[in-house]
Amino acid sequence: MRKIDYHMHTYFSADSEANPREHILTAINKGLDEICFTDHKDFHYPYCSFDLDADAYFLELQKLQEEFVNQIKIKIGLEMGLDVEYIDEINDFVNAHDYDYVIGSIHVIHQTEFYDPAAFFFNKNKEEAHREFFLNTLECVQTFDCFNCLGHLDYICRYGPYEDKHVDHQLYQDIIDDILRTLIKKGKGIEVNTSGYRDLKTCGFPNFNIVQRYYELGGRMITVGTDSHTSDRVGEHVEEVISEYQRIGFEDVSTFTKRVRD
Ligand SMILES: [Zn+2]
Ligand SMILES: [Zn+2]
Repeated sequence: MRKIDYHMHTYFSADSEANPREHILTAINKGLDEICFTDHKDFHYPYCSFDLDADAYFLELQKLQEEFVNQIKIKIGLEMGLDVEYIDEINDFVNAHDYDYVIGSIHVIHQTEFYDPAAFFFNKNKEEAHREFFLNTLECVQTFDCFNCLGHLDYICRYGPYEDKHVDHQLYQDIIDDILRTLIKKGKGIEVNTSGYRDLKTCGFPNFNIVQRYYELGGRMITVGTDSHTSDRVGEHVEEVISEYQRIGFEDVSTFTKRVRD
C-alpha cells in the first residue's frame, strides 16, 4: 500500500505559517510516495478570514512540483469548508481552479464553529450537539458534489465544554451509516485524519470502527492525512493507519488528479 499524506496546510491558510517546501522535504525524508496540499477555504468563518489566494497558491506549488518531479508526487488540493448556507459560493470557488483533490469538511454550522464553547455548543448537552453535528454532516454530503473525500468525520469530539468529550458513536450509528452510504453512492471517500492521535492516542478521525463500517457497506475510497500545520508533523502516524487499512481489507489508498481518482 502506498504511503501518502493527503491533508496538509501551509502559509496559504490563515492558521499556518508553514513553508510548503519544508513539508515536501519532510515527506521525502519519511519516504512518502505522494503528498497533497489542501489549504483552507471557508466562507464567512466567524472569527477570521479563511480566504485562499488560489492563483498564488497554484503558482508556488506548480513550481515546487517541477522542482521535485523526480523525488515525490505532489498534488494541489483544497480543504473546502462545506456549509449549506453557501452552496453556490462553494461550488463556484471549487470549480474556478483545477484542484487535484478536494476534502469536504464541516467547520461551521449556522455561523457558529467549534473552537469557542460559547458558540456551537451553547445551551446544548453533549448528545444534542453531537447529533446536530452528524445531521449537518449528512445534509452536507447529500447537498454537495464538489469534494472527493469527507474530512475528519467525527472530530467534533475534540471540542465542546464537556469534561468527557468522547463521542458515543452508537447513539448516532444510523446517521453515520446514512453518511457513509451517501458517500459510497456518490463515489466519494473518507480520510483518516491523524491529528486525532493527539487527542485520542489510539486512532485518528474517524476511528477504525467507522472505517471498517465504510468498508463493510462497500466503500473502497480512502486517504490518510496528517492535517499538518507545521512541517514536523508531515507523515505522522501514516504507517499505522495503513496497516489498519490492510487489516480491514483495503488494497490501496486512493490518489487523485484533477478531482478524478488515479
Ligand atoms: Zn478541517
Ligand atoms: Zn485541515
